[in-house]
Amino acid sequence: MTLLSGTPADLITRLRALDTRRAYVVTENGQTRASHPELAELAVAIAENTRDYRAHEGVFLEIGNETGALLGAFVHKTVRGQAAGGVRYWRYDRLEHYLSDGLRLAVGMGRKNAAAGLWWGGGKGVIARADDHAADDPKFRRALFREYGRFLSGLNGCYVSAEDAGAGPFDMAEIFTTTRYITCVPPAVGGSGNPSFATARGVVAAMQGATAELGMTDLRGKRIVMQGIGNVGGPMVGELLDAGVESVVATDIDAGRVNNVMNAYAGRSVTARVVDGGDMSIYEEKGDIFVPNALGGGLNPDTIARLKVSIVCGAANNQLLDDQRDDRLLAERGITYVPDFIANRMGIVNCANEQYGRLPNDPAIERHFDAEWDNSVANVVRRVLRSAKADGITTSQAANRLADELAEQPHPIWGHRAQAIISSLVANHWEKGESDPYPTQT
Ligand code: NAD
Repeated sequence: MTLLSGTPADLITRLRALDTRRAYVVTENGQTRASHPELAELAVAIAENTRDYRAHEGVFLEIGNETGALLGAFVHKTVRGQAAGGVRYWRYDRLEHYLSDGLRLAVGMGRKNAAAGLWWGGGKGVIARADDHAADDPKFRRALFREYGRFLSGLNGCYVSAEDAGAGPFDMAEIFTTTRYITCVPPAVGGSGNPSFATARGVVAAMQGATAELGMTDLRGKRIVMQGIGNVGGPMVGELLDAGVESVVATDIDAGRVNNVMNAYAGRSVTARVVDGGDMSIYEEKGDIFVPNALGGGLNPDTIARLKVSIVCGAANNQLLDDQRDDRLLAERGITYVPDFIANRMGIVNCANEQYGRLPNDPAIERHFDAEWDNSVANVVRRVLRSAKADGITTSQAANRLADELAEQPHPIWGHRAQAIISSLVANHWEKGESDPYPTQT
């Protein structure tokens, strides 16, 4: 069995056998290498993952010293600023899936940040959830997210984290006790709090941009087909009704979420139903817009063939299982795909710059909804759809091209400083160190 086909727990065992808690894979001068010669296999496997690896500046892994969890930080490109993106606490059967998720989500975050005009690079955190984790026990979570904060502190700020799937505002507050390199912290400690409402509003603005560009006027009278009515999908139903949609049909695997939506919008044209994870019926619903608000990877040849809508626009990250194939399949079916990182940017916009203070109806955030601003969500969607059409490329390709150009612009003040941070971690043998303990008064 290779390291990659094993579980994240197998990697932990391997690191322990090497008598280390830490390991990295970095790319310097075009060379990808691991912290330990015994882990060369890891560097080779990452570099050979041509789907998800894009010369990432660094992948850092650490075993939490209290919980024994595998903590990870994936740094793609930091030309525009420190790598920024949320931390996911998720279950992975194989190490290769854990690594793939981190690698591709970091690329997506970099593109999202750049296209949103933020001075941040691309990064993602992934903590592997294991069967022996008491993930519902507040004490366990406190220990886990505090050690994740210590891990971030040890990385000296080359990566700044935020909330993502499997983690919530309480977890961000715990991280904040052991590091400053975290955003989305609760308002009670000076942060921006839950980003989901901003994300929901941003996705609706993206739909408005798409309908306007496609000559479908606006959202009035449109039929919405939604997969997933969680933190983002739930409030999005209300935003859509306010925008005048005719109806919303939604599914979720969680009965509680379905009840919440049915109760909140009783008497309105909203139908939500509970399904099991493999259920395909939502893809076959007739409507105008399919809204993937559950997990990524839902759009693949099988599901795309079932769709009966003209637009796909939703909150989930990495909606296309294969972004070099599935965007084409959608285009061939005449379905306009609004690239996920263009549609769902408002979550990170909401929290990215919280250290600069907050204003009521913050203009730094509100302008993303302002039709007069060239870089508003709706205007960027329109630009992407227009340039795809003009150049005969898919909307994904057009969005990636736009974002990748912007990602090459160095931060106006700090230049490519996070790369220097990574080089210093390597030079100073980060892999041999330990996270600093939280100082206690004696
Ligand atoms: P969430 O976990 O609160 O909601 C996801 C919902 O999808 C859950 O209710 C879950 O039960 C449901 N679900 C899972 N599998 C399903 C399936 N097969 N069919 C139907 N429902 C299913 O997460 P969220 O915060 O609402 O985020 C939704 C998506 O948007 C995620 O992919 C997330 O990464 C992405 N996203 C979220 C934000 C944010 O601000 N929260 C920002 C950007 C992107």
